Amino acid sequence: MIVLVTGSRTWDQPLVVAEAMIEARDNPPAIYVPPPSGQPAEKMRLRHGASGKADMTADMYATKWGWEIQRYPAAWNLYGPAAGNIRNTFMVNDGIHLCLSFHDVCISRNHLDKPAHWSHGAMHCADFAEDAGYEVRRAYACAQGDLEQRRDWFLLRSPQTPSVAS
Ligand SMILES: [Zn+2]
Repeated sequence: MIVLVTGSRTWDQPLVVAEAMIEARDNPPAIYVPPPSGQPAEKMRLRHGASGKADMTADMYATKWGWEIQRYPAAWNLYGPAAGNIRNTFMVNDGIHLCLSFHDVCISRNHLDKPAHWSHGAMHCADFAEDAGYEVRRAYACAQGDLEQRRDWFLLRSPQTPSVAS
């Protein structure tokens, strides 16, 4: 079974990733057809974009559990800023059984003038997988209503962000 993991770079809840991966193994999506009875279970496969904490967390657990790992790093040199989304389409279009997504707040400094919102890459990947007809199981770092607070929390701790104190 191929499990695609996508998630925000800032995702900091590793156990949520572990639980979702175990749940995927124990409760496969409808699209997955297991081997006939009597035959050994198929190897679990993790696919991810090798970018950020959610991907690295999934990679760590998959390694620990002996899952096969398929890494799809974005080709930034080739595609520029669009590389992440292009990579997402490759990851989905190569065929998956299930997508697990882990959404955290966007902390792009270019977006500070907008209301706090979910980060873009993971949302694009999850939506693309869903539009392609795959089951997507989503987890969120906080409630939608707590996004502003969550963003403030990250920005206060980011060395790249100017201090809010005068
Ligand atoms: Zn944003």
